[in-house]
Amino acid sequence: MCGIIGIISKEKWVSYDIYHSLLNLQHRGQDNAGIFTTDDQYIYLEKGKGLVSEIFNNVKLEQLKGRMGIGQVRYPTTVKKEDAQPFYIDLGGIAMAHNGNVYNETALRQRLKENRIYCDSDCDAETILKLFYYYFDKSRGTIIERCFNAAKLVMQKVDGSYSVVSVIRGAGFFAFRDPHGIRPFVFGKKMKGNNVNTYAFASESVAIEDIVDNIEHVKCGEGIFIDQNLKIYRKVLLKKNPQHCMFEWVYFSRSVSKLEGSSINHVRGNLGKELAKKYQQSPLYERLSNQKNKIIVAAIPETSRPASITFARQTKYQYKDILEKNRFIGRIFIKPNEKLRRSEIIYNVKVIEEVVKNKIVFLIDDSIVRGTTSKGIIKKIKSKGAKEVHLFSTCPPIVNPCYYGVNMPTKKELIAHNKTLKDIEEYTGADSITYITIDELASSIGLHASKLCLACLNGRYPTPLLNYIDKL
Ligand code: SF4
Repeated sequence: MCGIIGIISKEKWVSYDIYHSLLNLQHRGQDNAGIFTTDDQYIYLEKGKGLVSEIFNNVKLEQLKGRMGIGQVRYPTTVKKEDAQPFYIDLGGIAMAHNGNVYNETALRQRLKENRIYCDSDCDAETILKLFYYYFDKSRGTIIERCFNAAKLVMQKVDGSYSVVSVIRGAGFFAFRDPHGIRPFVFGKKMKGNNVNTYAFASESVAIEDIVDNIEHVKCGEGIFIDQNLKIYRKVLLKKNPQHCMFEWVYFSRSVSKLEGSSINHVRGNLGKELAKKYQQSPLYERLSNQKNKIIVAAIPETSRPASITFARQTKYQYKDILEKNRFIGRIFIKPNEKLRRSEIIYNVKVIEEVVKNKIVFLIDDSIVRGTTSKGIIKKIKSKGAKEVHLFSTCPPIVNPCYYGVNMPTKKELIAHNKTLKDIEEYTGADSITYITIDELASSIGLHASKLCLACLNGRYPTPLLNYIDKL
């Protein structure tokens, strides 16, 4: 998963705003980051491995001059793809960064090679850039027409998910989003008097809410060009059924963000309420009816906090903070391997003993992916004296891998694949597990299930997933 940002301003340099936006997107990727800017004459690029705050400082930000720029934070969606974005191609004067994952990358690179266009990195953003450049170079008309044409052809060839920000040196800013809108993408503008002063694009509204107003989403399959005078040109280039990733609401996006018009915090609250209603109709509710004063509701911080609060409100049980996570480390799920994830739990999540001792803990988690986090935390809670731990997941069982940018590549890694509920309870040590259903998830989000990518839940992938391209 990655986070992207793009800003074009009429009067000020954008590097500091890009930097602060990237800090606000740091939860989407912690392996590397980069910023590209341009002032009509020169280009400036700084990127590297690590956190945004480790890569950039005042001196570097001062060197990133210009009124147009893009930035990216990344965690590798596959093991080898560690190359930092943005990428720049001098021939077309195009810089580009994206959020998503290109499934048919090998086939695309082969066809590019046959046309003497080579990629230097293992990063799929470079594949999109080179493909875009190939079509841009061949297109005729104004720069805007060439951008729209190239992006449309890219959309016809690339299989996967991609929200793209780019800068065309000396011409303007260009953004486009895949026809299914799998990954999130928003933009907004800032007015000065009657004129637009700034446009900003990002993976999440939280990254640009202090820079622009009137934030809306980039439409599925849309291309947006903004020239240097900040005149905007919009066009839906390829229209397909929206398939927004449900996992953005469940886990990835920050609670303060808004996605496709709905507040993430509100949706997570709905999920908690749904789970509570489900529980109130279950045999467990009957069994625990005379032990209400022993029950506490707790969140696995931070994502599931809104759901835990509404769960507690609906059931009238007490909500308690029982876990303290070291706030100076990243998200456990986003760590690139199992060994790291395990050690994160062992060393960095602590349980407040006096709150859980002799209690029946209702633990709300955003999702159960590998089961590692749940297992480690439940073990810790029980070791501090909890009598029972019941686990509630705001995501249905994840049984298929994701090919659109979320790091869960094999079925083998997924706890719910080929395992019964009883097996999962046994593995995690939970006394019971309750999952939300797909219908409850969709109604909590406020979109019909047909408008959501649910492939990791039901195996219905929105794109063909064929690593084949006949010709460019
Ligand atoms: Fe999101 Fe799952 Fe679809 Fe991947 S497969 S894009 S995680 S819903």
